Amino acid sequence: MKHDIATLQAMLAASQRAVVFTGAGISTESGIPDFRSPTGMWAKVKPIMFQDYVASAAWRAEAWKRKFEHEHTMRAAQPNRGHRAVARLVREGKVAAVITQNIDGLHQASGVPDAKVIELHGNATYAHCLDCGERYEIDALRAAWERDGVVHDCLKCEGIIKTATISFGQAMPEAQMLRAQQETMAADLFIVLGSSLVVYPAASFPEVARRKGARLVIVNNEPTGLDDMADLVIHHGIGDVMGGAVGVN
Ligand code: NAD
Ligand code: ZN
Repeated sequence: MKHDIATLQAMLAASQRAVVFTGAGISTESGIPDFRSPTGMWAKVKPIMFQDYVASAAWRAEAWKRKFEHEHTMRAAQPNRGHRAVARLVREGKVAAVITQNIDGLHQASGVPDAKVIELHGNATYAHCLDCGERYEIDALRAAWERDGVVHDCLKCEGIIKTATISFGQAMPEAQMLRAQQETMAADLFIVLGSSLVVYPAASFPEVARRKGARLVIVNNEPTGLDDMADLVIHHGIGDVMGGAVGVN
């Protein structure tokens, strides 16, 4: 572990332009469960496909029930040592961008400027109409749900309202995908923190970085789909590894 941290420090020192790529694993130390760990959410429930959400009021009701039940965990969560270490690297100009699969907003909460966070799977802290894009706040939707037992359709166009996240089966956001690709191709060091790297196209970013000649670092408790390809793999908690490497508590 000590040796691995020293190697990571040397790789950071040698880098001119690093990119950090995060998954649900960076936020578990903040109390937000991930999906694929043995204790993750999918040990309990299966994800709802976008097509089912759109086609069925019953699936929408189930999705909102899960969202509102999970909401207090999300709201109570604070950035942890891993988030703080990443924020320091951004502040020091070492890391040019943080590409995240997370929808919890904790990178921004840790002080990474909005402009440097690329959210591939959207954001769960608000909702919008799938047809006209009108924004809806979660609290207002929750109040209606508690009163009427449903989340209503869009007041403007009667379209379906959904959290501003990307579900399975839903198209990836084009602008964010493009920016993420550009940052990935410009990086000389690509650091993956807490992603099982099994969901495409997200998992293709480390592959692209590697192909472009960047060094690849993976920090994850369990083996990932791309460990074989990495220059450095550390199977350990992100807070300890990144906090130790960057000198953040
Ligand atoms: P995942 O659940 O597939 O994988 C997370 C990985 O992180 C696991 O392999 C696990 O072993 C590892 N891990 C967990 N805690 C760790 C820690 N403290 N230190 C080191 N490793 C740790 O997550 P994913 O690959 O990001 O994909 C799941 C999808 O779920 C993403 O698309 C994301 O949008 C969504 N999601 C987001 C959140 C969030 O926003 N916090 C939470 C759950 C799921
Ligand atoms: Zn609408």
